[in-house]
Amino acid sequence: MGFRELQQAYAEQFPAVGLVGQTPLVRVDLFRDEFPEVEVYAKMEPFNPGGSLKDRPVLYMMLDAFERGELSGTRTLIDSSSGNAGIAYAWIGGVLGVSVKLVIPNNASAERKKRILSHGAEIHFTNAHDGYDEALREVRRLAHSDPDRYFFCDQYANELNWRAHYESTAEEILEQTEGRITHFVAGVGTGGTITGIGRRLKEHDPTIRIECVVPDAFPGVEGLKPLKDPNDIVPAILDRDVIDRMWDADVDRGWELSQSMARAGLFGGQSSGVYMDGVRQLAAEIKKGVIVTIVCDIGERYMSTRLWDST
Ligand code: PMP
Repeated sequence: MGFRELQQAYAEQFPAVGLVGQTPLVRVDLFRDEFPEVEVYAKMEPFNPGGSLKDRPVLYMMLDAFERGELSGTRTLIDSSSGNAGIAYAWIGGVLGVSVKLVIPNNASAERKKRILSHGAEIHFTNAHDGYDEALREVRRLAHSDPDRYFFCDQYANELNWRAHYESTAEEILEQTEGRITHFVAGVGTGGTITGIGRRLKEHDPTIRIECVVPDAFPGVEGLKPLKDPNDIVPAILDRDVIDRMWDADVDRGWELSQSMARAGLFGGQSSGVYMDGVRQLAAEIKKGVIVTIVCDIGERYMSTRLWDST
């Protein structure tokens, strides 16, 4: 079953499931004076029940596994997450009555950790100094140590991750821009967003450009992973061919842009500002076009970080 079909099938029994997706696309005016012929739009993923873009892929992966009987009995869903997928796994697991265990670096914000616990999920921490990739290695170790006990959802390799964005987010962007989009800007955590949206947009119109932002410092931005070092793990679902260009995004400028966005009523997290730094660099180059990016998650999730300190 496809994303919408599965969602509709389960929304009757579990109504919160029906709240995922169909998020607003809002015009962003931050660069209007500088680049009057560039239209910028942001897809407002904080409107999802879990407050982030990860509700879509996690819902698809979990409903599919549930439907196939992989999550029956005492089986525990296990995965690694920087936090937002963890929140999605936690609330959807709570709704479906499935137990969930998440492997997370211990620098994830307190808000994320508490939110995960509030839905009844369990957290297994890894040391943030060992890098985000350590959480990926640890979850594989745990999952392989007891395959009967754990269902390893594996968002970094699960095809339904990118398919959720292909079937829902990208479709909505095409409808909401009436097909006028010329550029899409996003970064890479699992690669689900950029791969899924990129593939669908290119299918619709191969001239639409897919622009990838990579923060210039790690660990610096929750949700995004390093990619440039040859030792960095490249997510299995990331389709590099769909990406037309990579941009270095300045983390400090990204944080400032998160603050500017907050003043415009768009209260997103760190990665949303970093994506907007990519948008700004791109707008300066193209001077004319219709750029779409994502506000990935809600700003409240960063109260215990330094993100809002200088505002
Ligand atoms: N921003 C935030 C805040 C995230 O949590 C994530 C997911 N890790 C991303 C961006 C990147 O999304 P994706 O996993 O689809 O590449």
